[in-house]
Amino acid sequence: MAKNNIVVVGSSNTDMIIKLDRIPRPGETILGGEFVTAPGGKGANQAVGAARAGGAVTFVARVGRDMFGEQAIQGFLKDRINVDYVFKDKASPSGVALIFVGKDGENSIAVASGANGKLSPADVKKAKAAIASASILVMQLETPLETVQAAAELASARGVRVILNPAPARALPDGLLKLISIVTPNETEAELLTGIKVDSDDTAKQAAQGLLAKGVQTVIITLGARGAMVVTGESCQRVPGFNVKAVDTTAAGDIFNGALAVALAEEKPLLEAVKFACAAGALSVTKMGAQPSAPKRREIDAMMG
Ligand code: ADP
Repeated sequence: MAKNNIVVVGSSNTDMIIKLDRIPRPGETILGGEFVTAPGGKGANQAVGAARAGGAVTFVARVGRDMFGEQAIQGFLKDRINVDYVFKDKASPSGVALIFVGKDGENSIAVASGANGKLSPADVKKAKAAIASASILVMQLETPLETVQAAAELASARGVRVILNPAPARALPDGLLKLISIVTPNETEAELLTGIKVDSDDTAKQAAQGLLAKGVQTVIITLGARGAMVVTGESCQRVPGFNVKAVDTTAAGDIFNGALAVALAEEKPLLEAVKFACAAGALSVTKMGAQPSAPKRREIDAMMG
């Protein structure tokens, strides 16, 4: 087993972005936009983030039999991601996100999950050998919860650590949280999971304690530019963020999670691994787009100093 083997189970989308003066109202048409497409989807972002950070990544996902799915797979291959378990769905199109971005940075997003919604426990089972021989399994919540649960069960039964990025935010059964080694909510996701509004180090600690009480081993609450609060049964510490000029914060959390998985797979101590993830997250906000903004290992190492 290679030490840096990482499996990501999750979503792949194509982001279609129109930049406009402002977001159109219902019934309104606005001309003069600029159109960009970029590969996205939280699972795919995490897979690319981990691969560029130095992991040997296998991605388990579903795309449609269409141009978008094909382009996504070509992108994964460029990043040397194993796509043996990126299944092509016969009936559903690839996931897409239609994104309007206004001049002032406000956005409005509609997602059609398509094939992501068909990623099943049976798909996870097909990737059983890859999951069993991984150091870490990374997941998010853009695919069906029963699939996340099946993968978590498979991994934890074989002693493979599971990182769950609970995004987009939703309530989670305690039965799933018990199988998670590390949960990585941002402030709003931590609030949804615990009912505690996270707006300071103290409230972040309180929310983290609530999650530990549900059986998660380690809680890392990401705090945007302020870094991340790291809480285990024994310790509690905030790892400060790196000071950068933010251009586009899309996918910062995804890149953070991908890099975290790599650092932990390499057996870096927890706080050092979180610092590495913060460096990757910070670098990602200095560039536009989701996957295009994922930094390479040498950039992260240079940031770490
Ligand atoms: P999400 O993107 O899921 O909302 P965060 O905004 O908390 O998550 O960002 C994830 C991580 O990326 C943070 O913990 C931090 O390390 C890094 N990060 C995000 N925004 C910035 C920023 N403006 N400056 C520096 N680092 C950032």
